[in-house]
Amino acid sequence: MARFLQIAEGSRVATARDILRILEEPALDAPVEECATALKQELFGNEIHLRGILEFSNICTRRCAYCGIRAGAKGVQRYRMAVQEVIERARLIQELGYGTLVLQGGEDPQFGLEEIVQVVRAVKQETPIAITLSIGEFTEEEYRIVRQAGADRVLLRFETCSAPLYSRHHPDSSLAERISVLHSIRRAGFQTGTGFLIGLPGADLMELASNIVFTSRFQPDMIGVGPYIPAGEVETTLPRFRPEIYFKTISLLRILNPKAHLPATTAFDSFAPGGRERLLRTSCNVFMPNITPKKYRDLYHLYPQKSCVDAQCWHFTKMDDTLQRLGLKRATGPGHSLLEKRGGPETPLFLQENATRFGPNSIPQGEPPSRRVK
Ligand code: SAH
Repeated sequence: MARFLQIAEGSRVATARDILRILEEPALDAPVEECATALKQELFGNEIHLRGILEFSNICTRRCAYCGIRAGAKGVQRYRMAVQEVIERARLIQELGYGTLVLQGGEDPQFGLEEIVQVVRAVKQETPIAITLSIGEFTEEEYRIVRQAGADRVLLRFETCSAPLYSRHHPDSSLAERISVLHSIRRAGFQTGTGFLIGLPGADLMELASNIVFTSRFQPDMIGVGPYIPAGEVETTLPRFRPEIYFKTISLLRILNPKAHLPATTAFDSFAPGGRERLLRTSCNVFMPNITPKKYRDLYHLYPQKSCVDAQCWHFTKMDDTLQRLGLKRATGPGHSLLEKRGGPETPLFLQENATRFGPNSIPQGEPPSRRVK
């Protein structure tokens, strides 16, 4: 335990090789989880922040190979909620007493900057709830506009910190662009969340270890990580690693980022029955009930059968009972970041140190072009 706490204190000195060694050793599975649980308990007690997630559009111009709603995906019935419908749902969040509304969607040019700003202004005028955006990439200038309108946080996963693997899965983009967008989110003044997919086709344990270190060096306010669930064009078998590795990843992220908000993500339930429950009992302090109206929820399939995992005990009307059953309770307030000082110069440094592995293209340069042109 002392050894892990040492790593936690010095996340800047933990290398991907250190993390790889820990991941590879099955004898460390249980101690790592115990350590993460103890840390979570110390900082957050048994309180879980509820953030209602609203999947407002499954229309997307991007072609991320692993994603069920990518542009051109066959057999997807597309939808876009109206601005007023979204605002209605925000009112529901307030009635439910949740601290945060998370807006998630594809990169839909018809629900772009203008519409997001409309929603954010209206919600902020009417309610005290915090707003998180998980809607892909904007330019720094656009981020500043949304921030000024009142949005609090942005979640943008870098997905993988291997530049070749990133390019393989994102035919219309590069890792350098993605990282550069992450930095502009932070510069625009948002509480910034990031993370990755565990076990993308082509990933190995070293890639996973590097993702864990990369995330921690970025010092995110919140971290979103989940297993890759086979979808669409990419054929693969699950699991890519032994199943415990997936849970150990989340424990290690807690140890390296004690104060970060860490949600038990939906994909963990698709990966293993009871996956999210286990994470809430151990490392995670955030849950995101799905508040998308049913008629749309069934169409937002990032991966097959995604909507089913929310149907039963995780329904947004049953959260208090479910938490109680787990010996947990909901936290009050918006659940803002616990970090006093945000970010550091370590991220580009880490990529530079690893340029031979990840390729020179992984080093961010300049501003990405706007993708939100109507
Ligand atoms: N367009 C937004 C939101 C994407 S959906 C953006 O780019 O940020 C949110 C997350 O779902 C993605 O970041 C990705 O990590 C995850 N996701 C997509 N396809 C998935 C799959 N097949 N299995 C598991 N997670 C997936």
